[in-house]
Amino acid sequence: MRTDEHLLGLLKKSEALLEGHFLLSSGLHSNQYVQCAKLTMYPEHAAYVAEKLAALYKNENVDVVIGGAFGGILIAYEIARVLGVRNIFAERVDNVFALRRGFFIAKGERVLIAEDVCTTGKSILEVKTLVDSYGGIVAGAASIIDRSQPEGAALGMRKEWLHSVAATSWKADECPLCKAGGKPVKPGSRK
Ligand code: ZN
Repeated sequence: MRTDEHLLGLLKKSEALLEGHFLLSSGLHSNQYVQCAKLTMYPEHAAYVAEKLAALYKNENVDVVIGGAFGGILIAYEIARVLGVRNIFAERVDNVFALRRGFFIAKGERVLIAEDVCTTGKSILEVKTLVDSYGGIVAGAASIIDRSQPEGAALGMRKEWLHSVAATSWKADECPLCKAGGKPVKPGSRK
């Protein structure tokens, strides 16, 4: 578990991290909800996390930072800005990550994969497959938040994040918050 008290304060202030009783889009109920877009819609907050993540990789000779899917685009850009390197993002074509728009990874380039939240590491591994297909070398992965702490070794790469969120989720009929008489709210809807 990693704790960044300043970041935790920013997450709460921007309502990117909510505690309560939530109905997630998956249908599960949870005691916490994370939406990093609510943090990074404030550019100064995005700059804060980018500077901290970039510092962790400043000695890794990163050539390019790649954002995995939607959540990674903005943070990858910000980290690349701090490192002074190229920024690209992966997008799905027939459900498989690809580079479009003239983006490229040259053979042997060192690539940092950036995400907003790492939950299972699955999308990081999908981006790694894409980087491998270009002959790039994955320098590691960076995310603002880690929800599951899969070890970097389990992903076959170095992995860094700033703050751990240990959210618990349950099936609706097993939710202890419902059993206690509570009603879940959909994140994003105002109380
Ligand atoms: Zn519930």
